[in-house]
Amino acid sequence: MKYIGDYDVIVAGGGTAGSVAAISAARMGMKVLIVEQMGFLGGTATASLVTPLMSNGIKGNPDNSSIGREINERLVATGDAYPDNPSWFNPEALKYVLEDMCMAAGVRLLYYSTVTDVIMEGNSIKGVVIHNKDGFSAVHGRVVIDCTGDGDVAALAGVPYESGRVSDGKNQPVSVRFEVGNIQLDVFADFLNEIGYNGMKGDRVEIASVWGRNWPLEKIFREAVKSGYILEQDGAYFQAFTIPGKPGCMSFNCPEISNITRALDPYNLTYAQVEGKKAIMRLHKFMKKYFAGFQNSYICNTAVNVGIRESRRIKGKYYLKVDDYINCTKFDDAVARTAYPIDIHAVDSEGLQLKYLPEGEYMEIPYRCMVPCNVENLLVAGRCISASFEVQASIRIQVTCRALGEAAGIAAALSIEEEITTGDLNGVKVRKIMRDRGIFI
Ligand SMILES: Cc1cc2nc3c(=O)[nH]c(=O)nc-3n(C[C@H](O)[C@H](O)[C@H](O)COP(=O)(O)OP(=O)(O)OC[C@H]3O[C@@H](n4cnc5c(N)ncnc54)[C@H](O)[C@@H]3O)c2cc1C
Repeated sequence: MKYIGDYDVIVAGGGTAGSVAAISAARMGMKVLIVEQMGFLGGTATASLVTPLMSNGIKGNPDNSSIGREINERLVATGDAYPDNPSWFNPEALKYVLEDMCMAAGVRLLYYSTVTDVIMEGNSIKGVVIHNKDGFSAVHGRVVIDCTGDGDVAALAGVPYESGRVSDGKNQPVSVRFEVGNIQLDVFADFLNEIGYNGMKGDRVEIASVWGRNWPLEKIFREAVKSGYILEQDGAYFQAFTIPGKPGCMSFNCPEISNITRALDPYNLTYAQVEGKKAIMRLHKFMKKYFAGFQNSYICNTAVNVGIRESRRIKGKYYLKVDDYINCTKFDDAVARTAYPIDIHAVDSEGLQLKYLPEGEYMEIPYRCMVPCNVENLLVAGRCISASFEVQASIRIQVTCRALGEAAGIAAALSIEEEITTGDLNGVKVRKIMRDRGIFI
């Protein structure tokens, strides 16, 4: 097998956590490689069109990640995020910003390459095997950070994991997101205000409809089901937002493909793409008919990747339980804080479940949730860290994944500098550096 180099840190997956992890480690002087299967960075945010960032729900919305803050500032500067609320951003612009920040930090990018195996020495990871059009190659790293979202590297290295809810392993539904362009947003905002929304303005529109909530759009959805424009399932979860930097365009957080409950099965994902597109066509036809301002609109983007909310969750040195969430357990080695609710999308007939913390409270995520229980020099950052099904439904949002990425990059660099394993590294040191960077931790 070809050998393609030696790095301090290999980041598998250049998504939300991975891009930030790579920048974080490179800025601490590490030689960093990102191995990414797509031809761009951003992962779920860009390939699955997921915008806006959900807030961490902590009073004042303090920064979870200093690199995340920089990303937001860069997007605001080009008009690709709202200055008064940078959480709303343009996913297309994010690709450019992340790539630019990685290049500036000296990160080496390797696109169109998938991690397919691990190189182990005892219980220590020494590198990964990748596959691309050049065949298989080996690359060595002193620390590997698994930011694949699905815990691919950890699973290959033999780290135990869970997936889905405890009773039957069913994952939350996946979604195929899309964008619609050439909407007359002023006309649409007036229409929304007429049907019961309050103070909606053309440059910033947010709409949602979920059966049984009696939100203003529900009656229209009901009528459209009766008249055959959409199916019952199309109204189960519908949500859309305007996109800064893309005038006349909205991003749709739907359709949800609720009968897909094995999120890593490629046949299921293929089915989701096919059925998703059919649902998108129905929804768009429906909106053109029923929503004022949509008459000349068109579907301008369909997500390249099916949006996966949760899949593998590794078993780490600490396992975050629902009690930790409810009791807001605090940890000396905390690297992220969040009060985002436990937000479980419908599995089978069970509806959307939201569980909020009391105002002013937040949960903490310890460094040890990113440290696999049985493999050294491997860190896992992003939505697949060591947590229960319920807690993952809170930690999966992008601001938390960015925080975990930044922490993992710091931890990789510190362990290399101190010549100790990532398992022996005291997470309190990671936290200290994050605090020094002005992060609320
Ligand atoms: C439909 C949907 C709606 C959501 N809504 C919101 C929202 O409104 N706001 C919010 O903040 N969050 C939302 N989320 C959650 C959030 O977007 C994700 O949980 C988060 O972005 C995941 O980040 P990550 O870094 O863990 O994974 P990702 O960002 O998915 O990154 C994983 C990366 O790894 C790459 N990869 C995977 N396997 C390999 C491999 N073997 N080799 C090489 N590369 C690989 C992928 O291509 C990808 O780039 C939503 C999620 C979904 C699916």
